[in-house]
Amino acid sequence: MTENTMRVMWCEQPNQLELRRVPIYEPQDDEVLVKVAFAAICPWDVRAYSGLSSSVKFPRVLGHELSGYVAALGKNVKHLEIGQPVCADMIVKCGTCRACRSGRSNRCQRPTFQQFRGAYADYICLPHRNIFPLRKTTSMKAAAFMEPLACVTRGQDMLRLYPGEIELVAGAGPIGLMHLQVARAFGAQVIVSDPIPERLQKAQTLGAEWVVNPEVENLEQFVKDITHGWGVDAAVITVGSSRLVEQAIPLLAPGGRLNIFAGIYPKDELHIDPNLIHYGEFILTGSADSTQDDMARALSFIENGQVDTASLISHLLPLEKLGEGFQLVKSRQGLKVMIEVNGESA
Ligand SMILES: [Zn+2]
Ligand SMILES: [Zn+2]
Repeated sequence: MTENTMRVMWCEQPNQLELRRVPIYEPQDDEVLVKVAFAAICPWDVRAYSGLSSSVKFPRVLGHELSGYVAALGKNVKHLEIGQPVCADMIVKCGTCRACRSGRSNRCQRPTFQQFRGAYADYICLPHRNIFPLRKTTSMKAAAFMEPLACVTRGQDMLRLYPGEIELVAGAGPIGLMHLQVARAFGAQVIVSDPIPERLQKAQTLGAEWVVNPEVENLEQFVKDITHGWGVDAAVITVGSSRLVEQAIPLLAPGGRLNIFAGIYPKDELHIDPNLIHYGEFILTGSADSTQDDMARALSFIENGQVDTASLISHLLPLEKLGEGFQLVKSRQGLKVMIEVNGESA
């Protein structure tokens, strides 16, 4: 009986998780069945699980950051083979809406969510165009970061960095630590700020030129000293906090760019002097989610070793401990929590 069934972490309603057995998907002609190796926990998953995202319907199987191995192919899929290591884009974009046709498929107006086919399960099943092949030598743990790193890469693109510029990365969680590395890959020097000393240490080992704890040191003075009063050329706010955005805008140099990368909940407002933006010729931007172009670039960063994602994992838990993992992320303990679903040997 268990041969044709698989485990899923079923979420009947918010804050309720249960290990269930369901039939393994039968891939349609254009689909690929993937056996999940690793599935990471994203703060978004925790928000959705907690019932705080109005767009998330229940019941649901969550999980959208994964790596795995091809387990079965629909009859039209010729370019992949069984056993091949892969990553996946878990949102099926329509490909025909105005967003999809203007290079912003991340904002697709008719996306299909895999409500019952999340990555906290033994298998996922997706159209072949959502599957990204990996090199055989790529770490499966590292590759499970493709999706969040794609969002980060998109966020750094918005800042239009020029080599030698100085960027402030506010927040040194897993996302901030990826921003740091992509900014450096683009040639910037990076200041990382965070109130947690362990996170600042990690930022240093990952190449931050400067780290600062804003609860201990005055951030404004710190930036002034480093930049000789000029300010930072770019800043990214990786923590959902309006106060942090308000604090960072005056730190920008003339022509400075700032990306509000994290969504801000509960809803809030910004209070800033518009003349700062006017006279400073600042560019304020946001970025959300990622396109498949961003994903392909993120994968290159991982596979070429320019961004170290594997070392961002602080906890490795088996599938049935997903609830514990959600609690860890909620309490901001450690860095990335990774679920080892079937592991490297899947
Ligand atoms: Zn994510
Ligand atoms: Zn679309």
